[in-house]
Amino acid sequence: MQDSHEVVVLRFGHRPGRDDRMTTHVGLTARALGADRVILPDNATQSAETVADITGRFGGPFAIEQRESQAAVVRNWEGSVVHLTMYGLPVQDVQNDVRADLKTDSLLIVVGGEKVPFELYERADWNVAVTNQPHSEVAGLAVFLDRLFDGRELEQSWPDADRHVIPKATGKKVVPADAADDSETVGTPSDSNTADSSR
Ligand code: SAM
Repeated sequence: MQDSHEVVVLRFGHRPGRDDRMTTHVGLTARALGADRVILPDNATQSAETVADITGRFGGPFAIEQRESQAAVVRNWEGSVVHLTMYGLPVQDVQNDVRADLKTDSLLIVVGGEKVPFELYERADWNVAVTNQPHSEVAGLAVFLDRLFDGRELEQSWPDADRHVIPKATGKKVVPADAADDSETVGTPSDSNTADSSR
C-alpha cells in the first residue's frame, strides 16, 4: 500500500492447468487487498497476463513479475518473510509483530501450491496460520492482508484505473474513470448505463 514499506506476494509453485485459476486469484487478491507486487513462477504466464489485464483496466499501482526460481527469490530477499501455512502460529497472535516490522522493513508473503521445501519454514521470520485448518492460499492471503493492513486496504484508491465500479445496492455499474470523477455524471439517471465488471 502507498503508506507502508513494500509488501510483495510470492506464489511458490504452480502446476499448469491444475493451478491456473488459483494462481490467478492469488495475484488478483494480492492486488485488491493492498500488496504492491506479486511474483509468479515462470510457468504461470497465463495467470500473469490475466492479472496484468485486470490491473490495466482497474488500476494500480501494482506490479506483476515472473521468476524462474521461487527459492532464489526467498533466498535473496533482504526484508522480512511471512510464510502462510496451516502449521504456523495463529495470525491473531503474530499480527502486531508483523505490523510493527512493516514500519521499518519490506515484507515478502509466501503462499504455497504444491508442497513447499522445508527451508522455507526455516527462513521465514513468521510461519503464519489463518486457523490451523487446511484451506486455500487465496483465503489465507486475503485474511492475512486484511489483518496486516487492519482494514485500510478496503479504502485504497486506484489512481490510474481506466474505469471504476460505482457501488450499487442492486445491479452493476462501471463507468470510465473520467466520468467517475464527474459528480454531475455519477448519481444521475445515466446510472442505468451498465457494463460487465471484470471480464
Ligand atoms: N499440502 C500443502 C503443503 O504441504 O503445504 C498445502 C497445500 S494448500 C492447498 C496450499 C497453500 O495454501 C499452502 O501452501 C498455504 O500457503 C495455504 N494455506 C492452506 N491452509 C492454510 C492455513 N490454514 N493458513 C495459512 N495458509 C494456508
